[in-house]
Amino acid sequence: MSETSTKDLEKEILEKIQTCIRCRMCVKMCPTYEGWFTQSSAGRLAAINLRVRYDLGEDEELSRLLYDCATCRRCQERCKMFSTNATPADIILKTRQWLANKEKERRET
Ligand code: SF4
Ligand code: SF4
Repeated sequence: MSETSTKDLEKEILEKIQTCIRCRMCVKMCPTYEGWFTQSSAGRLAAINLRVRYDLGEDEELSRLLYDCATCRRCQERCKMFSTNATPADIILKTRQWLANKEKERRET
């Protein structure tokens, strides 16, 4: 199976993240949420948007937020049922791959 390029992943992430309307319907049922927005699904998407679209923040910081996600997909089910089907869990996993690709490219240069 061929690996998706960093640029293609970036395009996919940015296209899909636009469908998140920040309704926060997925926040409280995220099992890692303990009161801080960044610990939630929607918070993770906001951090992804800042890093991928605007080059704000650090890869290490984003990586920590994304690897704290338990990949349970509850946010995804919730969004599909009650909001825009923005596929937040898929976006989180794609961004993990985007970060891993970038790290690999850094090591190879
Ligand atoms: S429920 Fe969907 S649209 Fe609403 S904040 Fe979560 S990911 Fe975004
Ligand atoms: S997949 Fe991740 S972000 Fe979504 S509800 Fe589960 S732990 Fe939270």
